[in-house]
Amino acid sequence: MFKVYEEIARASLADELPDRKTCKWILSDQGADLLPLLQAAYVPREKYFGRSVMVHLLNNIQNGLCPEDCGYCAQSKNSSANIRKYPIKPEEEILEEAERAARAGATRYCMVLSGRGPSTRTVRKLASTIKKVKQALPIEVCLSAGLLGDEQAAILAEAGLDRLNHNLNTSESHYPSICSTHTFQDRVNTLLAARRHGVEPCSGLIVGMGETSDDLIDVALKLRELEVPSIPVNFLIPIEGNPVQGSGALNPESCLRALVMLRLINPRAEIRISAGREGHLRGLGALALWPANSLFIEGYLTTKGDAATETYEMIRDAGFEIEGNSLFKDDRTNEKRSGFRVSGSDGEILKPEIRAS
Ligand code: SF4
Repeated sequence: MFKVYEEIARASLADELPDRKTCKWILSDQGADLLPLLQAAYVPREKYFGRSVMVHLLNNIQNGLCPEDCGYCAQSKNSSANIRKYPIKPEEEILEEAERAARAGATRYCMVLSGRGPSTRTVRKLASTIKKVKQALPIEVCLSAGLLGDEQAAILAEAGLDRLNHNLNTSESHYPSICSTHTFQDRVNTLLAARRHGVEPCSGLIVGMGETSDDLIDVALKLRELEVPSIPVNFLIPIEGNPVQGSGALNPESCLRALVMLRLINPRAEIRISAGREGHLRGLGALALWPANSLFIEGYLTTKGDAATETYEMIRDAGFEIEGNSLFKDDRTNEKRSGFRVSGSDGEILKPEIRAS
């Protein structure tokens, strides 16, 4: 590694904050060279997480019908996106899907509800479901349910909830251009309530909503200030019918640079490659495992993603290991595999057709 990249890695290991000029140089495609930058970000990643990859599986347990106006979200009141809307799923279904997540190798099962925030009655119902999952399965449970206060956070903490997600999404100054029905501070308050009651906060962002480099740096710094241990990094999926469509400026390299910046500012956090991984990182998806140590399998809230088998193949081929859980036997860990897979034909070797003359 060149000296400047070595210095970046050293500073990150020492928990020293990179200055704004360095962050901008990392984010600019006219700035740092990508490969040594990824290697520099890998140094803290490797120190805190080795070569392991944590796998999360989302369950959108309540979809649509939201009175809020988050412009990037297909479930908001201002979106005309064609999505299936449904109230909270029956508990039996949520429990079955938790078991499926555990058997598929997920370390964490993330239940997500649309809406501004749940009533205390709904929180009590969720608490009961969380207890059942925790008793039955070797999987951590996360919840994303909108804005919550102390009373609700206390109920969820008592039920054994491992993490409460509420994304900051962008910087405080950019926030009014993506949402007007609640504020950046409302979101911060939810994270603080979780922390006060002993539930780990999880909070991240969406890259590609017309923000500047300064906005990206600001939200990364805020997550550091809040000592958020889990940071999902989404890349905007421009869904037809949503008010926020982004500038279309994202490409695999800009996504990797954003992940590197997030890792260097938050060296100890679980950095998760989230929505938009497949569509924006495309052929460079495996390189994202150098700064990031976590990802989702099998899709996101309203969009599909790669299947677990494909994602696991990418992880193994890049030399990383799936963290999994005690129900999941990854008997292919570190396996040196070779062979050729014919794509588009389910593995069948296509033979030239012989025509009768
Ligand atoms: S992000 Fe959440 S609060 Fe905002 S519109 Fe979507 S479901 Fe509603």
